[in-house]
Amino acid sequence: MSEDRLDGIGVTPMNGVGSVWWFDAGIDLPSDTGDRDPGEERERYEAARSTVDAALAQERKTVAERIGEEEAAVFDAHRQFLTDPEIEDEIEARIAEGTAAEHAVNEAYAAGIERLEDMEGMMAERADDLRDVRDRLLRALVGEQDDGESIPDDAVVTAERLTPSETAGLDPERIAGIATVTGGATAHAAIIARSMGLPAVVGIGEELSAVEAGTRVLVDGDSGAVVVDPDRGAVERAKARETVPPIIDRVETADGTGIEVAANVGSAAEAEAAAAQGADGVGLFRTEFLFQDRPAPPDEDEQRAAYESAMASFDPADRVIVRTLDVGGDKPIPYLDLDPEENGFMGARGIRLSLQEHADLFETQLSALLRAAASDEGASLAVMVPMVTTAEEVEATLDTVEAVAADLSDRGVAHDRPEIGVMVETPAAADIADVLADRVDFLSIGTNDLAGYVMAARRDAERVTALHDPLHPGVVRAIDRTVRLGHAGDAWVGMCGEMAGDPRLTPLLLGLGLDELSASAVSIPRLKRRVREVDTREARDLAGRAIDAGTLAEVEKLLDDPSDPTD
Ligand code: PEP
Ligand code: MG
Repeated sequence: MSEDRLDGIGVTPMNGVGSVWWFDAGIDLPSDTGDRDPGEERERYEAARSTVDAALAQERKTVAERIGEEEAAVFDAHRQFLTDPEIEDEIEARIAEGTAAEHAVNEAYAAGIERLEDMEGMMAERADDLRDVRDRLLRALVGEQDDGESIPDDAVVTAERLTPSETAGLDPERIAGIATVTGGATAHAAIIARSMGLPAVVGIGEELSAVEAGTRVLVDGDSGAVVVDPDRGAVERAKARETVPPIIDRVETADGTGIEVAANVGSAAEAEAAAAQGADGVGLFRTEFLFQDRPAPPDEDEQRAAYESAMASFDPADRVIVRTLDVGGDKPIPYLDLDPEENGFMGARGIRLSLQEHADLFETQLSALLRAAASDEGASLAVMVPMVTTAEEVEATLDTVEAVAADLSDRGVAHDRPEIGVMVETPAAADIADVLADRVDFLSIGTNDLAGYVMAARRDAERVTALHDPLHPGVVRAIDRTVRLGHAGDAWVGMCGEMAGDPRLTPLLLGLGLDELSASAVSIPRLKRRVREVDTREARDLAGRAIDAGTLAEVEKLLDDPSDPTD
């Protein structure tokens, strides 16, 4: 068999077959003599800038129609970069010295990109955005076509990396999938690919670079691999796995335990798509997408409209859980001026930032949420706080909710008190899950961060990716502890980390006692189907053995063959 398998990280549980098409960001610049007429070069630069601005405005419109307003907002940020005063000054200074416009752009942007890259992982996406804008300007200046239109049908778009806007600009109707050398499952570009339903595998490594243009490949987003020259059997198996019709009704395990299967979304448009895939509500609405890629935060009315619109996609028996703003760590927001160190993974992020530094944003968001909670259209609303480590943070949150409610009452504004929950993403929260559960209605385990903090391995650090695995016994035991203590404190316990969306892990997670699983919309049909197959007694037995396991390999072995008594 000639097929060759390149392992990476599956971003979307979908498969696609097509021909490798290298997304070539390289642009040939003419040589620079350094004696150009500044007036002419200035004109060329300004013309290029207008062309790019018009193209960005058009793409924004297309993406807003195709995916949603929030995802389209990345183009607004790009349009702002186009007129960034610092970069513009640097371009002007170079042009004034006689430098050709394309070289002035290239050098000025290189300096900006370097500044962002030096700021550590958290700002890396910003650097990608800046690269994106630079390449568009350079193409306009040297007269090259933008790549978007020239991508052939059924291409597997292959690249070193893809920026969020490059990803959002791809046409899911025409292309077969995405494969990239770098990247992780939780990066913004990956989350966009998932919401577009594009088969995608990222973080494949340098081996991908050796695959020539035109080679037929299978992008197996399901198992996280690109198969080069796949045989017919591999393609058929992949296709068969993919076609799973949605199950709209609620599901129970084979022995009758009801399990909620909800969706992780970043916008109201995604909530609507998730409802069509059979989601029983939203288990995690990541509101940071409403705040990113724009010059200022959304006001109370805009937020309330987004939350109510997500609620309207579901039934009254469902719940939409909105997470309060979770920025810092690897989630930057330019206008908040976050410091990569102070607001990094170990700094003031999530609820810490909301309580300590941005009480104004927190109160506005809570006000929008309490007002949305009073809406009688669609699902009920619940609020969840990220990055909790102490009971005091929960108490301060509850006090703020009360204060916001009192203010709304004073002003005669209709509102309601939503259910309140806590994300368990830190070892401290897992250890005091009973204390937290006593104070709130539910807990939801965020394994993306929990795995990072338990294993002391950043999710965006390539050299420690193997450690950032929620199946390590340390993480499995933290999940077990959270569920047991959460139930003891009378709260229901769900999971909204990426781990919840993997059907291979469903028996383990249900055996650990989770009441709800929340995952991206594309994962929901298969997750519901898998829940129906689980026997809770067998699942509990499997979970018990996973809790006793000493190594990741032992947990993996159990999952591959749960009946093996030698485990
Ligand atoms: C998590 O940490 O598991 C989670 C769901 O939150 P996010 O990925 O948005 O940090
Ligand atoms: Mg998190």
